[in-house]
Amino acid sequence: MNRFIMAISASLMATGVAQAEVTEEDLRNDQTITTQVVTNGMGRHLQRYSPLDTLNRDNVQNLMPAWAFSLGGEKQRGQETQPLIYDGIMYITGSYSRLYAIDVMTGEELWQYDARLPEGILPCCDVINRGAAIYRDKIYFGTLDARLVALDLKTGDVVWRDKIGDYKAGYSYTAAPLIVNGLIITGNSGGEFGIVGEVQARDAETGDIVWTRPVIEGHMGTLNGEESTMTGTLNATWPGDMWKTGGGATWLGGSYDADTDTLVFGTGNPAPWNSHLRNAGTPTEGNVGDNLYAASRLGIDPATGEIKWHFQTTPREGWDFDGVNEVVAFTGSDGNKYFGTADRNGFFYVLNREDGSFVAAHPFVSDITWAAGIDENGRPIFNEDNRPGDPTAAADGNKGEIIFAVPSFLGGKNWMPMAYSQHTGLFYVPSNEWGMDIWNEPITYKEGAAYLGAGFTIKPLFEDHIGSLKAIDPMTGEIKWEFQNPAPLWGGVMTTAGGLVFTGTPEGRFIAFDDETGEELWSFQTGSGIVGQPVTWEQDGEQFVSVISGWGGAVPLWGGEVAKQVSFLNQGGTLWTFKLPRQLAGNN
Ligand code: CA
Repeated sequence: MNRFIMAISASLMATGVAQAEVTEEDLRNDQTITTQVVTNGMGRHLQRYSPLDTLNRDNVQNLMPAWAFSLGGEKQRGQETQPLIYDGIMYITGSYSRLYAIDVMTGEELWQYDARLPEGILPCCDVINRGAAIYRDKIYFGTLDARLVALDLKTGDVVWRDKIGDYKAGYSYTAAPLIVNGLIITGNSGGEFGIVGEVQARDAETGDIVWTRPVIEGHMGTLNGEESTMTGTLNATWPGDMWKTGGGATWLGGSYDADTDTLVFGTGNPAPWNSHLRNAGTPTEGNVGDNLYAASRLGIDPATGEIKWHFQTTPREGWDFDGVNEVVAFTGSDGNKYFGTADRNGFFYVLNREDGSFVAAHPFVSDITWAAGIDENGRPIFNEDNRPGDPTAAADGNKGEIIFAVPSFLGGKNWMPMAYSQHTGLFYVPSNEWGMDIWNEPITYKEGAAYLGAGFTIKPLFEDHIGSLKAIDPMTGEIKWEFQNPAPLWGGVMTTAGGLVFTGTPEGRFIAFDDETGEELWSFQTGSGIVGQPVTWEQDGEQFVSVISGWGGAVPLWGGEVAKQVSFLNQGGTLWTFKLPRQLAGNN
């Protein structure tokens, strides 16, 4: 494949034709074209699985740094990007809405784009960015002031810019965009400010909006500049006007299942956090007070933006259990097509890929308090006495009963992406074992102000660890192995046909595990905490691995007692690229 592409490039150059462009075929086949990485998730199903086995259990101890790249700047903060690799160039995004193009062989910078951010942006959870998207001759990323920017892939020149939302009202953007059939598809961030979650599709070439789909019932979608359909049924599951500022931020972006031609986006917490303000609707359906479609997964038609199905993980959510966690298409051991998703609420769900219907759910963290389990319809069996109390029931009307809930609001799993191995059939889930004291308070909506109606303090559950990487059988929920880490895990996971699982720790170690046993086979100290997403690819017959290092993200800002425990961790901003030198590959 590599020689074939090089031959095409050479012939194009010889005839004076423009450079090759990333096509829909490239995006569709990103997992199997191992000489490039052109999608977030190493494939739009987000499996983060590479069929490469040049680097494997037997030789991973020979993996060594090839080059490192510093992001520079006076301010560092969290680095959560996933590198993209195309045509000899690596593209990464950085904190404060920066994007870099780097020579993939030498690590030299080719160009850098810095978004000019206005005063008054309102990112909830650090000034991070999770990656870009490439299509044809452009690269796209979102900025903290809720804009989408298209840059020339070769020069970094701005081709177009457009506004996703109003940053003054609390909108921002941090996810990697998704590209399907020439449309660039984005979510939005700002669920702590009473924004309304939405999915937007634009013509990638022009930036023109094709459709919009708000994810809270009562809001109207658009298609080709005209109203399309209302999301849900007005006031079916939301009381009064609460839906107008109902949250449901689609802040982690989405995946695409080509088999069913479906976009899948998760939706964040309903707003405000105080669930007692959202506890009634008009009884037109059997799910009064569920607050659809917050804390849900939505299957969306990519051509029209119509909702094909929904599955709500946490009805009338009251613990900030955003349902945005990535939805990964996989084929089960029974040969059936499923989705897997590890929810912030602590349960790992398997859904039917045809219609999003519930198949199974199992807890993947310890000592969950808010629900006794998930029933046969996929609905939580609530422990109502573990819902933060209603402040109007308190003597002073200002602070409801404090409860201790597990998981904490930062989740059994937060944004950090898991990986699915076609080699083992297991999911490798970066999770955290923690709980929180949480209480509700009165709150009224004010544009651009935090809209929570809650207070909280996160606490560890165990003395020796918070972070827990787990190898999980999706159908049974069985945990095959576990790696425990003192600090909370906040980085992505990748797995390969070479029998390896990669992830990093806030303490700075980049680690390769045996995918069957969890044995640690190799590690490297990167100098700062890893909260980024590793990738691997092949270049001239050698296998490379890259990951960014730079501690930050939500934990230092929101982690309560846990944040104090990890306050010694140093910030940074370095992209590391490793390779297995040909002479050390051994059995190849
Ligand atoms: Ca949230």
